[in-house]
Amino acid sequence: MRFKEKLTLTLRGYRMLHQLVPGAMLWAFVQNLVRALTPFLNVYLSGRIIDFLAQGRPLRDLLWLVGITVMVNALLKLTEQASGRTVDYLIEKLDAVWEKPLYEKIQTMDYARVEDVRTHAALSEIEIMCSTSGFGFMRLYFSFFHGVRGFFLVLFSLTLTIGAFIAQPAREAGGFRFLFSPWFTVLILLATLGHAAFSGLCSYRKTKKSNRIYRSTEPINRQWMYWWRRIRQYQMGKDLKVYALDRLIDSAYIQTTIQDFHAVNGQIQKLLGFYEPLEGALSVVFRIVIYAYVALKALFGAFGVGSIVQYVGGLSQLSSGTVRLIQEISVLISNADALKAYFDFTDAPNQKYQGTLSVEKRADNEYEIEFHDVSFRYPGTETDVLRHVSLKFNIGQKMAVVGRNGSGKTTMIKLLCRLYDPTEGFITLNGIDIRKYDYEDYLGIFSVVFQDFKLFSFSLGQNVAASVSYDAHRVQECLHKAGLEDRMDRMPKGLDTALYKDFDEDGVEISGGEAQKIALARALYKNAPFIILDEPTAALDPLSEFEIYSHFDQIVGDKTAVYISHRLSSCRFCSDILVFDEGSLVQRGSHDQLLADRLGRYYELWHAQAQYYDTAAERKA
Ligand code: ADP
Repeated sequence: MRFKEKLTLTLRGYRMLHQLVPGAMLWAFVQNLVRALTPFLNVYLSGRIIDFLAQGRPLRDLLWLVGITVMVNALLKLTEQASGRTVDYLIEKLDAVWEKPLYEKIQTMDYARVEDVRTHAALSEIEIMCSTSGFGFMRLYFSFFHGVRGFFLVLFSLTLTIGAFIAQPAREAGGFRFLFSPWFTVLILLATLGHAAFSGLCSYRKTKKSNRIYRSTEPINRQWMYWWRRIRQYQMGKDLKVYALDRLIDSAYIQTTIQDFHAVNGQIQKLLGFYEPLEGALSVVFRIVIYAYVALKALFGAFGVGSIVQYVGGLSQLSSGTVRLIQEISVLISNADALKAYFDFTDAPNQKYQGTLSVEKRADNEYEIEFHDVSFRYPGTETDVLRHVSLKFNIGQKMAVVGRNGSGKTTMIKLLCRLYDPTEGFITLNGIDIRKYDYEDYLGIFSVVFQDFKLFSFSLGQNVAASVSYDAHRVQECLHKAGLEDRMDRMPKGLDTALYKDFDEDGVEISGGEAQKIALARALYKNAPFIILDEPTAALDPLSEFEIYSHFDQIVGDKTAVYISHRLSSCRFCSDILVFDEGSLVQRGSHDQLLADRLGRYYELWHAQAQYYDTAAERKA
């Protein structure tokens, strides 16, 4: 990366930091200005007090000066404490919010990228750089912090040491006359800068190399995080226990990960072991030079012995201030890599969701969707999982989509919801290509219960409403329709009962069937004109399944409903059944019509499954 790009990224990072935590830099500036100013101001005021004493000024003047000194100190202390606390709070805030844009991006990015392992690798790399190695926005902030401190340290120490540079000898310096030449002063200042530049270079190399080492740990870090999270989830307990999976995880991953981390740590130690003594040695040499310079000048009567401490202290501060400034600049240069990874992630264009047309809100729910010769293959794969599918969803009808596992049913729904776009062909809503619609608007017409739906450790009400605040009456109505009324009545805090026990020991554990009903209630609460249920009863017991199906018209009302199931018996109540096979729509019709075609896939599937049905009557149905 070129320097200009690094500079642009750093400036952008600071602008973003200011947006994320307004006022953070102002407070850091105040705190560090006060911190740097206090010792110098005290040295100055103490000097004036001594002057007043030496000049025999009246006691009243002296008391005034002492009073001012005390007041100034109190004011500085108060400002330092107030700004210090504010800065601590803002650091915590920054730590909590810098990742937010990443998560917002995941929410809005093309779904194909969400499912792509490379997206998760990129995220984990950013986390390593910004959390484990401490780069990114926190680094920007700390560098600003130290940079301001370093700048004022340099400024104030220069005012303290200027006397050392200009002082002339009281007696003949002989061979040491060069110490008093302006060129030697320039040389000392250059040596200070050189020392700082060398430290900056060391620090740059050190951080660049350690960054490379840390970044190389991304795959092991991701694995580590995965297993660590998994093992801690109490829901994993049963399988871990019964199959002693912890042993497998330990020997397959944890042990090797620990070894890898040891190896990484070894590399980092080696790196530090090289650079740190080098920096330390140079610092000692530099200090000796400063002592010798000041002591020799004092020896030739340039200033009193009392000033030696001031000048040595001032020159040391000047050196450490310059070192700090340059080191921070070098760290900022290295930090640009982390910022690049961060902004590359958030800037990645969303190709898909660019449509702008708004979806007309229709009270009559007349939304007609049609697939036109649609084929699809997943990115990075070779075979079409949908082949030339043409179909129209009949408004207000209940439709079933059946077919063997892997025949493309769920994929068809993913295309319908525009999680993916067709590889060939197109889909229309009321005659217009769905890509032209604003995506959020378009998604608003669908409620979907996916096969692998997820509920979260929020309250029951929040899970159903997918919102913090909700209409309790409607939530109850939806839970009632979904058949969860009895269970809801038994929940200790009603709709406020937490699902699962992750955060609340009074949370409830729910069965797979209950979870499915809650997910159904969530879909109903959204009240979208299309309701799609992917294997909606897979986890239900036969009685609940029967209940859901017998009340289905009531449950979904006048919405267009699409069921997906590989269980044909679940779908025969639908007047319109679509049969998928190996990615193609091979048959469509009512149960009786489809069964009448003895050569059709439906007939074959029905009879293959019929052997599992309870009664002969059911088989005939
Ligand atoms: P069904 O819902 O009928 O069981 P799916 O639509 O889930 O079938 O899957 C159809 C085919 O697409 C299967 O072969 C499946 O392995 C494949 N598939 C599903 N999701 C992905 C994915 N994200 N990437 C690649 N292939 C996938």
